Amino acid sequence: MHAPHAPRSGRTRYLPASVWAALLLPSPTVAAEPPAVPIVIAHRGASGYLPEHTLAAKSLACAQGADFVEQDVVMSKDGIPVVLHDTTLDAVSDVAARFPGRARGDGRHHVTDFTLEELRLLTLSERVDPATGKQVFPARFPAGQGRFGIVSLEEELAFLAGLSRSTGRTVGVYPEIKSPAWHRAEGHDPAAAVVALLRRHGYATKDDPCFIQCFDPDEVARLRRDLGWEGRLVQLVGGKDQDALVSAEGLVRIAAVADGIGPSIDRVVDGSGRPTDLVARARAAGLAVHAWTLRRDRLPAWARSFDELQDRLLATGIDGAFTDFPDLTVARLRDRTGLRGD
Ligand code: CA
Repeated sequence: MHAPHAPRSGRTRYLPASVWAALLLPSPTVAAEPPAVPIVIAHRGASGYLPEHTLAAKSLACAQGADFVEQDVVMSKDGIPVVLHDTTLDAVSDVAARFPGRARGDGRHHVTDFTLEELRLLTLSERVDPATGKQVFPARFPAGQGRFGIVSLEEELAFLAGLSRSTGRTVGVYPEIKSPAWHRAEGHDPAAAVVALLRRHGYATKDDPCFIQCFDPDEVARLRRDLGWEGRLVQLVGGKDQDALVSAEGLVRIAAVADGIGPSIDRVVDGSGRPTDLVARARAAGLAVHAWTLRRDRLPAWARSFDELQDRLLATGIDGAFTDFPDLTVARLRDRTGLRGD
C-alpha cells in the first residue's frame, strides 16, 4: 500500500467516504483507504509565469494553491546549498556580464566557482538558450526584465515557512539533489547538506510535508541507508537510459528505500495518449507516482490542449504531478473531483 501524501495542513485532502463509495471500483486489490486527491507540485515555483526558482515564482505558486513547491539544489563554492536548476549559471542569470573572466574552459560559469556572496550579486531572469539568447518559452515572463535574486535553500525554507504562517496554509517542500556525482568530484556533498538543513527546519519524518528527490539511484539508496533520511523519498526516472529502474526488479529495488517514483509524463501516458502500465506496477510495488512536467506551452504531440494532457495524465491514477502552471492544475483537479479547493 502506498503512503498517503497529504501535506501537514488542516484541510481535507481526501474524497469523503460517501463520495468515494459512489465512485468505488470493485477491485479486491484496491486498498481499504480511499486514494488521496493528487498533490500539485509547483515545478521550480509557478515557473510558467515568473522566472524559475525566484521567490516571486514560489510565492505565486503558494497563492495558486500548490501543495508542494520544488527546489532544485546546487552547491556554492563555499559549500552552501542554493536553489538553482543547472550546475551552470549562463541560461538564467547575468553572470557573464557581472563576472567577466570567470568562465571555465567550456565557456560556462559554474555555480560551484562562486560563493553565495557572489551569487547574491547576480540577477536571475527567465531562461534563455545561452547560444542564441532566445527565451526557451517565448510566451513566458520577458527575459532580462525584473530584479530577481538567487537564494540559498535555507533562505527559501525560511521564506516558505513565513508564508505558511502568514497565510495559515502549509505548503510542502520538495528538494531535488542535482548531479551528486558531479558535486562529489567538485568536493561537495549536497545530499548530506540538504538532509542536515531539512532536519534543522523541522523536516525529518514521513509525517512532515517534504519529499527529497533525485535521479541517481545510488544517491537515493545512500540518502536512506547512509545519511539516515527518514522522511519521504522519490526516485526520479528520466530517459531511456533509466528504463531498468522501472522494470519489475527495478521497482522492487526502489521500494526498498524510497516511497515513490517521479517518472516523466511519457512513461505514464504513451505517445498515442494512452496510459501505460507503470502506475499500476508502481502501486503494486508499494510506490507512489509523481509525474513531470505539465507545461501548457510544451504539449506532447498527441495532446490537442493542455486540459486534454492534464485529463489523460490524471486519469492514470497518479498521486501527484509537477506543473509549471499550478493554478491550471489545481483548477482541473477541482473540476474533475468537484471537491478540491480551500
Ligand atoms: Ca527538478
